[in-house]
Amino acid sequence: MTTKVPNCRNCRSAMDEGWIADQGRHHSTVFEPKWIEGEPHHQRWMGIDWGITTKDAKQHAVTTWRCPRCGLLESYAL
Ligand SMILES: [Zn+2]
Repeated sequence: MTTKVPNCRNCRSAMDEGWIADQGRHHSTVFEPKWIEGEPHHQRWMGIDWGITTKDAKQHAVTTWRCPRCGLLESYAL
């Protein structure tokens, strides 16, 4: 993960590293968020949306920093 700690652009406090969980369908699992290049492509078959395909798309894990003083969030996809 990132080693350089960013400072909040509002109040200049040192920010805490973390990430925003993407809740699973059954609320028992969470997924690590990713930045994906381009627009989302929905896979449809027989009129049903089977989800978004990410095949061949450029992906980066997302790290989100949170300011402990004012709550500002700042995300990086490296
Ligand atoms: Zn702040």
